Amino acid sequence: MSGRAVQIKEWDRTHQYCGYCATLMTQIVGDRAKRCPNCGLVNYPRLSPAIIVLISRGEDILLARSPRFPSLMFSVLAGFVEPGESLEETLIREVREEVGIEVKDIRYFGSQPWAFPNSLMIGFTAVYAGGEITIEPAEIAEAAWFHKHDLPNIPPKLSIARRLIDRFVEET
Ligand SMILES: [Zn+2]
Repeated sequence: MSGRAVQIKEWDRTHQYCGYCATLMTQIVGDRAKRCPNCGLVNYPRLSPAIIVLISRGEDILLARSPRFPSLMFSVLAGFVEPGESLEETLIREVREEVGIEVKDIRYFGSQPWAFPNSLMIGFTAVYAGGEITIEPAEIAEAAWFHKHDLPNIPPKLSIARRLIDRFVEET
């Protein structure tokens, strides 16, 4: 609930003016939306969908560390959906860009709203299909395969990243 509040508040704060003609927007009664009284543009709270994927290879999983992560934390890969992409296309592109490998057997796992600031994380599992890990240094500081019983520092409970990892460890 607080995540929902944060997102709506942030949308309100950052969408005061019309993006087309810069007129002050007005709140529409009965709908969570704003309308421009000058040009009629309607604006709903924006969501930015992002995929998050656990890639497995036998009993190993691929984890990566972002230069932005605190305290050497490793996690599964994630990336924002670009205009015109399906979720599967985003997943394949992000994995290729960030670690240079190919994946197959993409399966839906679950989703999680993420209010920092307006994401919807859509979780998948996928299986390694080929290639050597080659990191994109702007996005990834370090990436490697880890055995499920020898994992590094991983994200805390409640995150979908952790749920993906825990499920794999339990069920594989
Ligand atoms: Zn306008």
